[in-house]
Order: sequence, then structure tokens, then C-alpha cells
Amino acid sequence: MGIASINPATGETLKTFEALTNDQIETKLQLAADTFKTHRHTSFEQRTEMMSKAADILESEKRQLGTIMTTEMGKPLKAAIAEAEKCALVCRYYAENAQKHLADQLVETNAAKSYVRFQPLGPVLAVMPWNFPFWQVFRFAAPALMAGNVGLLKHASNVPQCAVAIEDVFRRAGFPEGTFQTLLIGSEAVEAILIDTRVVAATLTGSEPAGRSVAAASGKQIKKTVLELGGSDPFIVMPTANLDKAVETAVKARTINNGQSCIAAKRFIIAKDIYDEFSEKFVQDMQALKIGDPMEETTDIGPLATPQILNDLAEQVQKAIDSGARVLTGGHRPDRPGNFYEPTVLDNIDLSTPVSCEEIFGPVAMLFRADNLDEAISIANATSFGLGSAAWTNDTSEQSRFIDELDAGSVFINGMVASDPRLPFGGIKNSGYGRELAEFGIREFVNIKTVWIG
Ligand code: NAP
Repeated sequence: MGIASINPATGETLKTFEALTNDQIETKLQLAADTFKTHRHTSFEQRTEMMSKAADILESEKRQLGTIMTTEMGKPLKAAIAEAEKCALVCRYYAENAQKHLADQLVETNAAKSYVRFQPLGPVLAVMPWNFPFWQVFRFAAPALMAGNVGLLKHASNVPQCAVAIEDVFRRAGFPEGTFQTLLIGSEAVEAILIDTRVVAATLTGSEPAGRSVAAASGKQIKKTVLELGGSDPFIVMPTANLDKAVETAVKARTINNGQSCIAAKRFIIAKDIYDEFSEKFVQDMQALKIGDPMEETTDIGPLATPQILNDLAEQVQKAIDSGARVLTGGHRPDRPGNFYEPTVLDNIDLSTPVSCEEIFGPVAMLFRADNLDEAISIANATSFGLGSAAWTNDTSEQSRFIDELDAGSVFINGMVASDPRLPFGGIKNSGYGRELAEFGIREFVNIKTVWIG
């Protein structure tokens, strides 16, 4: 695939980019290695000053940066602006907390003194997706740079202007040129970079096949990886839940980012006693969403990011229908240019079909009826993914069961799964491994060095 900005609301090609040549890649890798030698010795105070400046830039330019996101990948502008703000938040979080998270940890042993020291590793490659084109990058870069590492970004090929703008934010914040570099390359160029000895580790946020490929290539080189992959998150509603609040959150949790979020609620598992009421209200609210130009303030649902994603989504819906699913609303592309798909609700899904537990990347919800708590947990866990999970109940014993038994990297009770710089984020099973954010994220790409003094 070429590296290009194509407006998904219109299909118009806005800008195309030449991929870097091998010589250009070589120059950037060497610059990263050279810059690491100095960046690793900068003080936390110096890094904090630059990272806080990056936050200032993100805040003051959120509208311009948001516009780049919206024109390249179609998320509603208000969400894109909020994304720039959230990036500022993660920069500030690590500017304020990195030193504390990476302080020496004294441990009493038979030594005169023994402790753990956290040291940076070197240039880390970040392979990133288009769906949160700023957030995914900043949640890697803010801790990595604060820890003293340097970053190399291979962004998704459909968001090159975001990739260039992010590099520019760090540069203007005062980070020397090689501290954070964008590599405009296709995915076929990734393996050679992973093999290069100057690159010490990699993180990938994206699909399962991409994760397998980067992990395999890195594994051969004995290089650490963090993988943030797909999800098919359950959203469970039990009879004691506040139904109106659950419905309102369910709509938001399914359609956020035009339905293209790894932690979007994708499978709605509803207790049988409240199933009809939930389903009726949920369908009504999904029908009320406004599809339209993502640049307009009133738009809830913009286009999907690429024609390929639209085709994949339509195919999954068709497969579900072919195996007996009922369409309660939607199920079509609206008659307009751009990669739009109607908010859709399916039920009567055959649990033995692959589509029942696959990741559906778009505004399509699947409803499942559960006879009891055990069945709700069993349907929730019947997927190869394990990213987030949400359960709605005011019964404390049910809450405990969900917290203990849902196979996922997070469980949210009476709330929507969301990332927060103060809490770790990541998955289990085929949703990946490792954690981002909080102290766990900043310790992924460091040498946890044992120091023993006799
Ligand atoms: P994708 O196709 O896997 O692309 C992600 C990145 O990987 C892009 O930069 C892509 O480059 C690159 N890539 C693809 N195949 C590769 C390979 N074989 N070797 C090396 N790099 C490769 O994923 P996407 O469609 O952009 O994103 C959607 C997926 O990301 C969903 O599954 C979603 O759930 C997941 N995601 C997960 C999280 C999380 O935190 N767990 C967050 C957001 C999204 P090109 O663009 O050049 O192909």
C-alpha cells in the first residue's frame, strides 16, 4: 500500500508520500543511536521541561492537530480535538511522574546495600495504527522518552500527516532531532529495522497478524516486544443495573471513533429478564445517531478509515446474517460517497460461528441473551481476545464474580472501558502482552538492573 492521506469522507487523495530509501533509513537509525548516547544522560528535569512543552503545544494547537486527524482517518473533529488534549495529559503525567516511577528501589538483603535501578535501553521502534493516530503514539512516546530511550515511529500508511506532525511536536518541544523520528515506510520495511542491532526493542499496536509478524521477527533477534492487539470486548448488563445509564454508555462504547476502537464494547451480553427492554432502548439510541461529515460539530458517526475496512465490516455483517442473525437496525451503507456504514444492531447470533467472537471494527453491535450469571461469563470469555471488559450490576457478589472471572486485561464495573495514564492498559490472550501507561508502561522498555554492593 502506498503512503497517502486520503480523506475517508470524500475519497479525495490529499497528499502522497515517497517511502524512505534504504540510505535514508540508515541515516535515521544512526541518528537515533547517536542521540541515545546523549539523551540517556539528560536529567529528569530537562526531560520534564521538554515533555511539558510538548503538552503545551498539543493543547494550544489541538484544533489544527485534530483537523489533520479528521481529514486523514475520519473521526469526528470534536473527538480528534479531545484526543490531542488526552495526549497532552499523558505527556504531563509522565513529565510529573517518570522520576518517581524510575527511582532506585532499595531492597534489604545480605549485601551492605542492594537496590534496583531502572536504565533506558536505546532506540525503540513503535509500529502504530491509524485509529487513534496521536494517542497511540504519545502513550508510547511520553514514557519512552522520559525514561531516556529514543523513539522511531512507523505509523500506519494512511496517516502520514499525523506521523509528520507528531515528530514536529517533539522537535518544537526541544527534543533533539534524533530523539523521536518518523520513518515513512511501508510494513514490508519493518523486519529489516527489527534485525538492525541499533534498534533494541519494539512495540506494536495493531492487528493480530501484524503483532505475530513483529513479535516473530523480534523474537529471532531476542528483542523485547510489547503488543497491543485487537479485542472483542464484552459489555454485560445484569438485572440490578441502572438500565438507562447502561444503554447510554453501551451506545457510546460501541460507536466511539466510528466504532473503530480496540476497547470498544463489541458483544453485548444481556440478562434475559431485561433483554427486551435493553434491546428496544439500545436500538432506538443507535438509530438516533447522526451520520455525517466528521468536520461538523453535530456529527456522531463519520466514515470508516478506508474502503478496505468498510468492505471487511460489510462482509462480517453478511456472514452473521447468513448464519441466522437478525438485523434490528442498520445493516447497510448509506447512499452517499465516503466509507460510511449505518449504526447496526444484530441479535440471534449463532455462538458457534466465528463472527460471534471476532473483532468487528465499525458501528455494529451484537446482542446476546444470557440465562444467568454463569452463562454471561461463559459467553464473555468465549473469544480468543482478552483486552477490556465491562459489567453492569449493583449486586456486589456479581461484581466480585466478574472481577475474578472475566478473562481480560481490565474489568470496568458500571462504566465504560477507557484508558487513563494513571492505570495500566493492555490485554491477555490474543490481545497481546505487556502494559502501557502508569508505572507499568514506563518500566517495559528499561533495564531493570540489580545492584549488589558487598
Ligand atoms: P494493522 O493493519 O495491524 O496496522 C497497524 C500497524 O502495523 C500499521 O503501522 C501497519 O502498517 C503495520 N503493519 C501491518 N502489517 C504489518 C507486518 N506484517 N509487519 C509489520 N508491520 C505491519 O492494524 P490497523 O488496521 O491499522 O488497526 C486496527 C487494529 O489495531 C485492530 O485490530 C485494533 O483492535 C488494534 N488496536 C489495538 C489497540 C490496543 O491498544 N490493544 C489500540 C488500537 C488498535 P501499514 O499501515 O503500512 O500496513
